[in-house]
Amino acid sequence: PAFSVADIRKTFLDFFASKGHTVVPSSSLVPGNDPTLMFTNSGMVQFKDVFLGTDKRPYVRATSVQACLRAGGKHNDLENVGYTARHHTFFEMLGNWSFGDYFKRESLKWAWELLTEVYKLPADRLLATVYQEDDEAYDIWTKEIGLPPERVIRIGDNKGGRYKSDNFWMMADTGPCGPCSEIFYDHGDHIPGGPPGSPDEDGDRFIEIWNNVFMQFDMAEDGSVKPLPAPCVDTGMGLERLAAILQHVHSNYEIDLFAALIKAASRETGEQDLNHKSLRVIADHIRATAFLVSDGVIPSNEGRGYVQRRIVRRAIRHGYKLGKKTPFFHKLVADLVKVMGEAYPKLREQEQRITEVLKTEEERFFETLANGMEILDITLANGVRVLPGDVAFKLHDTYGFPLDLTNDVCRERDVQVDEAGFKLAMEKQKAQARAAGKFKMDKALDYSGASNDFVGYDKLEATAKIV
Ligand code: ATP
Ligand code: MG
Ligand code: MG
Ligand code: MG
Repeated sequence: PAFSVADIRKTFLDFFASKGHTVVPSSSLVPGNDPTLMFTNSGMVQFKDVFLGTDKRPYVRATSVQACLRAGGKHNDLENVGYTARHHTFFEMLGNWSFGDYFKRESLKWAWELLTEVYKLPADRLLATVYQEDDEAYDIWTKEIGLPPERVIRIGDNKGGRYKSDNFWMMADTGPCGPCSEIFYDHGDHIPGGPPGSPDEDGDRFIEIWNNVFMQFDMAEDGSVKPLPAPCVDTGMGLERLAAILQHVHSNYEIDLFAALIKAASRETGEQDLNHKSLRVIADHIRATAFLVSDGVIPSNEGRGYVQRRIVRRAIRHGYKLGKKTPFFHKLVADLVKVMGEAYPKLREQEQRITEVLKTEEERFFETLANGMEILDITLANGVRVLPGDVAFKLHDTYGFPLDLTNDVCRERDVQVDEAGFKLAMEKQKAQARAAGKFKMDKALDYSGASNDFVGYDKLEATAKIV
């Protein structure tokens, strides 16, 4: 029988516990006191200070299943959701760590042992990448583990930006970082895409499942690095990607947990095609937004709250596209609690509150959504290929359409958004408001409708680095 998501979590933790690791619970999506980071984007975040040497733990080996969010900040996958088989905003990362204890050899060998002997993945479907200059990792893969050299690929730090691959991992623009070695799974030649490091690596044939980072440096703002007090290991494997392989499906959205959420989204929207992209987006976004509320983030016009708002509204717009004209999204909270409440009791405890917060945001956005969509439709009629910046701004300012939502609609219709024009319009309004002497705002405090998304250019830049 195929591994369920719950089996996969348990098997992972048990394996590393048997190798002397302490099982540590998932931390909040809101990083405790780290201003460089919007959200917990990987398992290492709660250990950042341990790498830097400013925090000590009673253990030198740890393992966890960490709730992660990649929307906003350095790692942002919001625009990938609905377009690739492998990206979510919210996902769970299986990880193991060494704080100055073991290093490359143990890390890679255990990864291989777990994948091939415990989860029993076929070895001939696996590939590994190593950092360009990392002969040590290369030799471990080829000589000790026995991976054929043609399936071990050297990759640089992508400073030239030619391809997407990058084997130098950084949590954010500053902080702990180091070379890494990644494990990929070949889903088969019926799926388009090339191996890592090739020009068509962006396809979903070779899917990256596990990153082993050899943490060695602390990067400063100017890009200079100094060595960490001790070399460390930081690994992360996407639970949903591994589940897809073990459940013999290609897309993360076909695994057990998502099947339930997609069915629920289908029930609420009436869309019968379970492979419909919008159902996937809604299923993804209910996880992200519900977990965010459970960690104290409610929709607002700035910072984390604005990312939350963008995700909720994006989901609602997809429901609208499927014909929903009234609030539906919050009704999925109960379904989410059914599939994730056991692993994350805080969801169950806060079910009522999460439902209410999402419902309030939905009601607010439904007040302006239809009118905003009408403006978009009218503007884009007659084969217009570029949405003018001032229209995008008006949608943002008056109808509560975050820029990435407008982008999402336009992308579906093969239309570009004049983002420079959008920014210009925004700055113009800011200047006018300042001139009129009333830019003390706070429009954010004036909650007469969903129409006040203006948060100031600087804040938008900082919180909403859009595409
Ligand atoms: P990709 O290249 O596919 O975007 P990544 O290199 O950005 O992945 P890492 O930062 O190395 O990912 O994170 C470690 C692991 O977490 C990945 O190997 C993958 O299994 C998983 N992962 C990363 N991003 C996502 C996501 N958006 N959704 C689901 N799983 C993810
Ligand atoms: Mg990525
Ligand atoms: Mg990658
Ligand atoms: Mg990676």
